[in-house]
Amino acid sequence: MIQTIIEQLERHRRFLVASHAHPDGDAIGSLLAMGLALKAMGKEVLMYNESPIPAVYRFLPLVHTIRHKIDPAADFDAAIVLDCGDVERLGTATADLERIQLVINIDHHVTNTGFGHLQLIDHDACATAEIVHRLIEKLPVAIDVAMATAIYTGILTDTGSFRFSNTNQSAFAICAKMIGQGTNAYEVAQHVYGTYSLGRIKLLNLALDSLEISPNGRLSVMTLTRRMLRETRTHDEDIDGIINYARRIQCVKVAALIHEQSSNGSASKGRRHFHVSLRSDGSVDVAQIATQFGGGGHASAAGFSAESSLAELKAELMRLAEGIADKCDPN
Ligand code: 5GP
Ligand code: MN
Repeated sequence: MIQTIIEQLERHRRFLVASHAHPDGDAIGSLLAMGLALKAMGKEVLMYNESPIPAVYRFLPLVHTIRHKIDPAADFDAAIVLDCGDVERLGTATADLERIQLVINIDHHVTNTGFGHLQLIDHDACATAEIVHRLIEKLPVAIDVAMATAIYTGILTDTGSFRFSNTNQSAFAICAKMIGQGTNAYEVAQHVYGTYSLGRIKLLNLALDSLEISPNGRLSVMTLTRRMLRETRTHDEDIDGIINYARRIQCVKVAALIHEQSSNGSASKGRRHFHVSLRSDGSVDVAQIATQFGGGGHASAAGFSAESSLAELKAELMRLAEGIADKCDPN
């Protein structure tokens, strides 16, 4: 399949390269690396993400060349969709794909729906950036410092700094190579993990305060509402990573973070829009749980969206604990 994709990349001229809305480090890193590689091949490229770039990733070289709008009159020969388990994760651009003849789906989620005309999906890849690196290596381009830093950041963040269960040999091998291409590991770490706004720390405080543990000690739930974000003057991107505190508690096998979405007025009375992030210690497949709720992800990190009342959603999540192992005291 990789060979077919390479032929298609060489043959076509105008590309739309896009990754999932509310991007994380892998969505931005793989988008930049793929887009810049195609530009280096002399292609016309629109790098697209629906959402603003989170502040911690704005240091990435050429990140400002990512666009947030697609001209409805623009013509593309092919689209490359990165790090999306399903095509709806793109956001409004899902509709733009309909007028593009060739859609290439590059991803590492176990729940990937196989959308598009060509797929390059590897569940064992630590990040989409690993697959993008594999592809770029076979293209007639040299990996420059901008591509290298993008790939490095994608792998660093998707493996939780080489701590999550997806951390594989390639994660280290590719990152070592990217440092050889000029990526400054300390600088990346400083930007991604080194500096938080005061509001973000206060938001963490509210999140910790919202912690609830199931009666058997196996499931933890945190809740972040629009009001908490307003009070701390923070944004959705500031929530990134907070769920790890809920997961680290001893005994806990599944951690959930309920994140209220900004209202677009479409929720019916008494119901609100939420995104639920799920993490597990590896013993419970949260991708399977998320799929039951219409979402997806990986075995140990997944998510879904829900329209519900907060109390109902929490009760539903708490009920999941009943299916998990024996009682344990987290204190
Ligand atoms: P997060 O909790 O950080 O938003 O996402 C964890 C993992 O689950 C990511 O790999 C993400 O792509 C996936 N994920 C989160 N929400 C959804 C969703 O609504 N649908 C699908 N298919 N995947 C999701
Ligand atoms: Mn990813």
